[in-house]
Amino acid sequence: MRTKIIAGNWKMNKTLEESQALITEIRGIVRDEHRGGSKVILCPPFISLASAARLLEGTEIGLGAQNCHFEDSGAFTGEISPLMIKSVGAQFVIIGHSERRQYFGETNEMTFKKAKSAVRNGLKVIFCVGETLQQREDKTFFKVVEAQLNEGLFGLDRKEFANVVVAYEPVWAIGTGLTASPEQAQEMHHYIRKVIATHYTDEIAEETSILYGGSMKPDNAAGLIAQRDIDGGLIGGAALKAREFADIIRAVG
Ligand code: PEP
Repeated sequence: MRTKIIAGNWKMNKTLEESQALITEIRGIVRDEHRGGSKVILCPPFISLASAARLLEGTEIGLGAQNCHFEDSGAFTGEISPLMIKSVGAQFVIIGHSERRQYFGETNEMTFKKAKSAVRNGLKVIFCVGETLQQREDKTFFKVVEAQLNEGLFGLDRKEFANVVVAYEPVWAIGTGLTASPEQAQEMHHYIRKVIATHYTDEIAEETSILYGGSMKPDNAAGLIAQRDIDGGLIGGAALKAREFADIIRAVG
């Protein structure tokens, strides 16, 4: 059985105080309502990670960062290393989010270095792939996602890859209110699993959790999750409201 995962990507939202309030609220709802059918992960901004780790201590809720550098330390002003993320008590890191690729020039070469470094430092990686609207329309989307995996992730060996969760996030569906239909998402998830099986093994592909991301909300989560190859969600906007986020968790189980 693959682990079902609901991860909240808060992006550049919430001050320290606001983060603490939201985490406290989510923690309470999860404690009272969550039936334990999925792993819940929160990914607040870097400045909130240490305090989030304290607030989540003793709970089953996981904690992740939204990005990392690939070196452990050094003259990289403004950057944060996997070693530093691990040191505050986080267990996950999102790598290759489309906003990092689009606005910060992140390449497949960089995502691979980051993933390698994150795993070496004991973090689990939520690795994002996805095509733009143009790539969907010109029907290159399978090729684009396959290249993101081949060039940006598959340099990891089998043991390292056991620490990876893949998130399919069509760029045209992120923060736009447009969602891939369950069938469109399933088609890509199935393809991603096939590509993982080809590169690694069938067994590894079967064990890898593949999340959907892109305007997932309480009212569309159940339909997406019902698909065979969709193992949860990476949630942006709806993760900033405790009730909405909790309703997505409930839809997943
Ligand atoms: C995301 O940024 O990972 C995301 C899926 O955002 P949203 O849910 O807002 O589309």
